[in-house]
Amino acid sequence: MSGEKIRLNTEWLCDCGGCHVALVDLHEKILKVLESVEILKCPVLTDEKNYPAADIGILTGSIRTEHDRHAALEMRKQCRTIIAFGTCAVYGGLHGAGLAHTREEILNHVYRQSPTTRTDFLPNNSVSNLEKMVTPIDEVIDVDLYLPGCPPHPHFIFEGLSALIEQRSPRAGKESVCAGCRRTMTKTEVAAIREITDGVPDNDTCFLSQGYICQGSVTLDRCLAPCPNHGVPCSGCAGPTMQVLTEPTRDIRTEIGERMSRLTRIPYETVKGHLEKSAKTQYAYAMATRMIGNKPTFLIRKWIAEGEAR
Ligand code: SF4
Ligand code: SF4
Ligand code: SF4
Repeated sequence: MSGEKIRLNTEWLCDCGGCHVALVDLHEKILKVLESVEILKCPVLTDEKNYPAADIGILTGSIRTEHDRHAALEMRKQCRTIIAFGTCAVYGGLHGAGLAHTREEILNHVYRQSPTTRTDFLPNNSVSNLEKMVTPIDEVIDVDLYLPGCPPHPHFIFEGLSALIEQRSPRAGKESVCAGCRRTMTKTEVAAIREITDGVPDNDTCFLSQGYICQGSVTLDRCLAPCPNHGVPCSGCAGPTMQVLTEPTRDIRTEIGERMSRLTRIPYETVKGHLEKSAKTQYAYAMATRMIGNKPTFLIRKWIAEGEAR
């Protein structure tokens, strides 16, 4: 690089703010980044309302409001390289689960029916309009670099930013969370699916072998597997592996169903049915991406209707 610093804009769309906090989680490594980067716009650090011309633009969150769409388009116009940062930006993220309901159902629930937040009126024109769908940003603008994770682990954030600063390709593997998990998959005689509140899981054995649903094998490792290594099954927050995303008939429930039925005595159809019944949870992070939502085998509205009819 020449002596000039790289100009950076960041902007958040529909999100929880956690991805911006994750930037600060770089701790002392942020000083290394700042040797080469000048932050022009960042909602948590600067009071810049406009979109200055920049070399790198980090977008967190997905598009759910008219303001989100405007902000994404402005960032694309002004930034040479756009990073979709975090699972919300890449796949729609957790609030993609809203796609299981209509916009009217969501507004009614939040503003008219929820006992804790009820106001009995809907937001007026002074609030940016809620769009019909949750949209990952690459369905609206071109994206140059994808960095999923909820939020991405500082290891991958630093590697991604360093790669851009050094003008090289980022080093990021395609392994699943299982690759970083220290539990062992073993064949067991477990015959029923357990909730995480049922009993105390053994610390060394794969959750699937014990009858607990764990999404580690269908989730891309952008977190270094903290959850299964600390006693909690993976809920898939970094988004699916490439295999789940790209194989038309394979997905979260078929992959976990096959693996779990091989590791236990629980039949494949039982696992698959369980995942369909809890699909809003199991597919929450990625259902807004067309790669999941448009699969002919992804039938969340049917599964919800069947669940409500039971
Ligand atoms: S990806 Fe996760 S941490 Fe980042 S903004 Fe979305 S919900 Fe928050
Ligand atoms: S499925 Fe979960 S518990 Fe089993 S090895 Fe993979 S991450 Fe670990
Ligand atoms: S282990 Fe799973 S749930 Fe935990 S941070 Fe990683 S991807 Fe998210």
